[in-house]
Amino acid sequence: MSDSRDYHAVINWISGPVLRATTRVPFHLNEAVKVGQLQLLGEVIRINGREAVIQVYEDTTGLRPGDPVTATGAPLSVKLGPGLLGNIYDGLLRPLTEQGRYVQPGIGQDTKSRKYAFSPSIKVGDLATRGTLFGSVHREDARIQRCMTPPNCDGRVISIRPAGEYSEDEILCVLECDDSENRELSMSHYWPVRQPRPVLQRRPIKGPLFTGQRIIDSIFPIGCGGRAAMPGGFGTGKTVLQETLAKWCDADVIIYVGCGERGNEMASVLHEFPSLEDPRTGRPLMERTVIIANTSNMPVAAREASIYTAVTVGEYFRDMGMRVALMADSTSRWAEALREISGRLGELPGEAGYPAYLSSRQADFYERAAHVHALSGAVGSLTIIGAVSPPSADFSEPVTTHTKRYVHCFWGLDAARAQARFYPAIHPLQSYSRDVEALVHFWSQHGYVNWMSQRQQFLALLEEQARLERMARIIGKDALPPRQQHVLLCADLINEAFLRQSAFSEVDRYCSAERQIAMMQMISRFIELSKNAIELNISVETISTLPVMRRLMRMGEEIGEDDLDRFDELRVDLDGVFSRLTHGSKQESASHEG
Ligand code: ADP
Repeated sequence: MSDSRDYHAVINWISGPVLRATTRVPFHLNEAVKVGQLQLLGEVIRINGREAVIQVYEDTTGLRPGDPVTATGAPLSVKLGPGLLGNIYDGLLRPLTEQGRYVQPGIGQDTKSRKYAFSPSIKVGDLATRGTLFGSVHREDARIQRCMTPPNCDGRVISIRPAGEYSEDEILCVLECDDSENRELSMSHYWPVRQPRPVLQRRPIKGPLFTGQRIIDSIFPIGCGGRAAMPGGFGTGKTVLQETLAKWCDADVIIYVGCGERGNEMASVLHEFPSLEDPRTGRPLMERTVIIANTSNMPVAAREASIYTAVTVGEYFRDMGMRVALMADSTSRWAEALREISGRLGELPGEAGYPAYLSSRQADFYERAAHVHALSGAVGSLTIIGAVSPPSADFSEPVTTHTKRYVHCFWGLDAARAQARFYPAIHPLQSYSRDVEALVHFWSQHGYVNWMSQRQQFLALLEEQARLERMARIIGKDALPPRQQHVLLCADLINEAFLRQSAFSEVDRYCSAERQIAMMQMISRFIELSKNAIELNISVETISTLPVMRRLMRMGEEIGEDDLDRFDELRVDLDGVFSRLTHGSKQESASHEG
């Protein structure tokens, strides 16, 4: 910040985290500013002639009219570097402890002198275009990361440091640029949070973000680089599902943004996450995680920024060619932050008091999810999964309805299912996925060419079940004809044996693609065999009380990843049971006819 630009404005009005300042020089929209004697970090969010409206990311207690505001000349940016993995930050990437307290008071990021092992992958004389990978960083406690030229810089390498140990801010490479002075590059660089990082090309969704959760992967799958929302009232399992996905999905890096939930809830995440184990490596999950936390006691403006900060961090890892999954819990608290700031500015409120620009802000966030060809040529992806907590679990409220417009997968969590302790409480009739078509290939590569039609069959049965249950409430279940009772039996099996999956079960908390296929095919086989049996006048009651039914219902719990062969045994037994049943019935009807 140059001295000549000091005291560029003077505060004339303050309301909580927002203030107005009379400017002496032109300010830029979204420019970062320092406010008051304490140099609190703020951002220009509106300009009216000679007045700048500023939101402040720190506690404004003690600020008063007449206090100075200094422009920084740069948009609100965060520092992206190899130190990010394994740490907890606030909405502006200021480091926090596991208790959610600031590591250092005041502004500024953690520029501690920690050193990282760097090895160059470029030499003097090479051309480094935007996003070129010029070296890699090896951390013994985290995966290999790449050093990239920032997306807004290119030139010829005039110096590059040899392999060795360096801190994040040490200059490693110098570029001679045509149009400006030389650029000095370190392992880290700054990037404006509200500006999507450029890519070479957005690519269509190709494979899934595989989660190991049956109702997601097999029924409402999400593509790698896709976007999903999980709306649900209190206690419907949003947090557990987000954590389960973070733990089991096949992403290289997890960004978890906890947004303004009640302080104790966020504290439990902060406490729990660092103790989670990566099931694949047995090492701490934190080694490939970045947590961005904003409890409700942190400044509301930082909550508003946290979502963009998280996406920016996600894009940074994506640009190295990694698969990144971003979990945001909950986007409703973020929308409430927007509403609070807008209210303080006296803006005209829209639906439910939210500002009219709520929808476009949500679009800005979700549209940054992508499967891309990065500037470096690497292929990476950023998948966004946002939790929504609609008041009174009402999915017609504005945050949920706008979210629906921008996501491709909608996993509606249902209070009745959760009350019945049916988890994950994703309601099959209130959910959808638009990534299904793109993922047919994934399942056929696993030898499952019927996936699409069996998925549709399951959904059709579940839909019919809902209709028949309404009818059964009036006329009684026993009054339904056998074919309809059979539908209820099959739908029950789909729910209990396939969609239900406890996040806390040692055997069933993760379900591989092979196991999901085996289970789906088993249920399909049962549907076919039992349908034939019903046509031969075998009663639904006889079928529902067969001992093999219990084994089917419990196959998720009883057949683990290491005994997939036992599905073959179960299938042989199932075929045998039905063959005896229908054989007996055929003989009986033949003797009647005789
Ligand atoms: P929310 O974040 O929506 O308020 P939580 O994620 O805290 O809800 O879930 C509430 C409780 O429901 C959890 O403490 C847990 O006992 C149970 N639960 C939620 N999801 C699952 C799951 N997938 N498997 C087993 N139990 C679950």
